[in-house]
Amino acid sequence: MLIDLHTHSFVSDGTDAPADLIRAAKTAGLDVVALTDHDTAAGWPEAQRAADEVGITLVPGMEISTRLGSASVHLLGYLLDPTHPPLVAALDRILDGRNGRVPAICAQLQAVGIEVTEEDVRLSAGDAAATGRPHIADVMVATGAVASRDEAFAKFLNPGRPGYVRRYACPLEEAIGLVGEAGGVPVIAHPWGRSPGALTEETLARLTAIGLHGIEVDHQEHSPQAREALRGIARNLGLVVTGSSDHHGTGKVDHDLGCNTTDPDEYERILELATSAPSTGSAAAPRRG
Ligand code: AMP
Ligand code: ZN
Ligand code: FE
Ligand code: FE
Repeated sequence: MLIDLHTHSFVSDGTDAPADLIRAAKTAGLDVVALTDHDTAAGWPEAQRAADEVGITLVPGMEISTRLGSASVHLLGYLLDPTHPPLVAALDRILDGRNGRVPAICAQLQAVGIEVTEEDVRLSAGDAAATGRPHIADVMVATGAVASRDEAFAKFLNPGRPGYVRRYACPLEEAIGLVGEAGGVPVIAHPWGRSPGALTEETLARLTAIGLHGIEVDHQEHSPQAREALRGIARNLGLVVTGSSDHHGTGKVDHDLGCNTTDPDEYERILELATSAPSTGSAAAPRRG
């Protein structure tokens, strides 16, 4: 059984429509796939219809933008009720922060001679509920200012580069609480990924005590050594271990669907930990055992 628990559609910064992503997951041989767009559940209904059509299990999820001190941490929430009002309020605030920073980024890029307008970014983001720096990167690729999303981040969009603008992210402890209250299962995405250091075993132990249930271990941003060390921490703390592609369509190279997967026993633990049955409008929602 092949299980990939972290993917993005064009509802955030992936490049596939939710239905196309699900069909691609089926073609890639996956049995279970989670749709985890940044800060939104907007892709769930379309993804669920496609999952029912092709016969694959969809795990509804999202990847929430959070902060621990000054560090950015991504929190995956699985099988949560997306209508839980305090969660909706937190997501709205994050999405406002995403949209609100676009003009500031454009102004800063223009100041260094890169022509990107808000209108360009709006067109690039299309119907995305969550606008992100990748949409700005795509405009820069289209105008020839850079060759790839990677180059846009490295030269202009990462912290410390001329186009970087900070945005609101929910305190991690609060987000863990919200996912739990919404009946879902909170799992930290790529804990030792691009900005490692903040999530020590001691910190993860403290977060586990307030409701964290798992960590993503098998992820492209983790070296073999990091994966082994994280597996050890998960064992010590009793955390669920997940693996995923973090697929973004053509938006990220080397993140093909199923390139990392989650052990079926660990997936089963997630189903057991979920306390709500989120309605994606399907009779074929993930079920225990
Ligand atoms: P934002 O959501 O605006 O904070 O942008 C961060 C998102 O951009 C991450 O969650 C990734 O999905 C994506 N990202 C970050 N770095 C890169 C990169 N070098 N190339 C492509 N996508 C990236
Ligand atoms: Zn992303
Ligand atoms: Fe992430
Ligand atoms: Fe992601």
